[in-house]
Amino acid sequence: MKNVPAMVGMPQGSWDLHCHTVYSDGTQTAEELIAQAQELGLAGVAITDHDTEKGWDDAIAAARRHRYPLICGSEIEGIERTGGRHISVHVLAWLYDRSNSAIRDLFAATQCERMKRAKRMTEALAKDYPITWEDVCAQAKRGGDTTVGRPHMADALVAAGCYPTRSDAFAGAVNYRSKYYIPVHSPDAETVISAVKAAGGVAGIAHAGSLERNDEILTDEDIERFAALGLDALEVYHRENPPAQRKRLLGLAQRLNLLVTGGSDWHGRGGKPNELGENTTDAATVAEIVRRAVMPIID
Ligand code: AMP
Ligand code: ZN
Ligand code: FE
Ligand code: FE
Repeated sequence: MKNVPAMVGMPQGSWDLHCHTVYSDGTQTAEELIAQAQELGLAGVAITDHDTEKGWDDAIAAARRHRYPLICGSEIEGIERTGGRHISVHVLAWLYDRSNSAIRDLFAATQCERMKRAKRMTEALAKDYPITWEDVCAQAKRGGDTTVGRPHMADALVAAGCYPTRSDAFAGAVNYRSKYYIPVHSPDAETVISAVKAAGGVAGIAHAGSLERNDEILTDEDIERFAALGLDALEVYHRENPPAQRKRLLGLAQRLNLLVTGGSDWHGRGGKPNELGENTTDAATVAEIVRRAVMPIID
């Protein structure tokens, strides 16, 4: 690692375990992520693109070029459906074996569902806004290797002059409460957690206390059920978890013996306002994640 001074206030050994790149809805490459992380004095980063591992090879090459520590991972959507509910659950999956067939099948199914949903949602939007399916596809920075989602629809709306920024589109037409919204038909949350564990990975629930994404949030009982399946961690330190939720999640982590992580959910410049390293995970927790996982880190 280059000898750069640590950012003021950045504790030594801090990792950002939640970052998106151009392989999903991040606006920047892994190369840019790593260069910025190095400059900030972060100890390492994890790449966690939505529902894919296609960005790993580029990220590994960039980490080696920069001699910078990298954890390969993904953020995988599952749905909590018990009791007739519909809660989108984001599972952070670190250091799993990407050749595992259950994981490969899961990603293939989700990508297919995502394309169907993106086309249908774009058709609905196109009735009232001047965008086409081609416009949405043009926003996918890695072509067919990109996980396509609402951010690409938002970017198409921005390109068409309908909104000034992606976040404005998320406050409007692509919001989950908007009439154009269609959810992705993702697997059950339990299926995702079990698949990650079966593939030798370490699993955490991202932003479990966020009140901005679903009408309901996961209950203590839901998280207990996930812990019984082998869930490893809760992402307590995330900008969308309000203080009361952080307190609740910390209590749960202690009671259920779960690791506590933090991540910025970085999406690059213009992707989301989240700043790289704004929430982090300590070195001892990262060491425990690495100890539990089947895959080594790149360092
Ligand atoms: P989707 O999974 O297709 O429903 O899209 C939802 C995802 O959009 C969430 O996981 C967010 O991380 C992501 N996203 C990216 N940029 C933004 C933004 N500016 N505002 C809100 N969500 C965003
Ligand atoms: Zn995202
Ligand atoms: Fe997420
Ligand atoms: Fe994320």
